[in-house]
Amino acid sequence: MSGRCNLCGRGTVGGNNVSKSNKKTKRTFQVNNSPGTIRSECLNECIRLARICSKCTRTIDHVGGFDQYALKFLKNIKLNSIDRVIQFAKRAVKCKGRASLQPGNATR
Ligand SMILES: [Zn+2]
Repeated sequence: MSGRCNLCGRGTVGGNNVSKSNKKTKRTFQVNNSPGTIRSECLNECIRLARICSKCTRTIDHVGGFDQYALKFLKNIKLNSIDRVIQFAKRAVKCKGRASLQPGNATR
């Protein structure tokens, strides 16, 4: 399980080095992981992750925070993440759902 992203569960995959003479030798492709924290604006909480891939970091930035990310990708998180993250994402989605029901809270 080592080397897997804690959020999306992507891990090492295999492939070939292909030389000019088209000889193929086995190689592995590692995930670009680094430690980091994810922050839920709605819950006002952070959790620290030992490994989060750069793709996930960029996606979270792109959609505008972990709350939106959790809303959009909860299904993926449930399938691939570690338990701690799943609980965190569920709570973020719940909180986000409540906030959007009350129009006063949506605009700050
Ligand atoms: Zn990831």
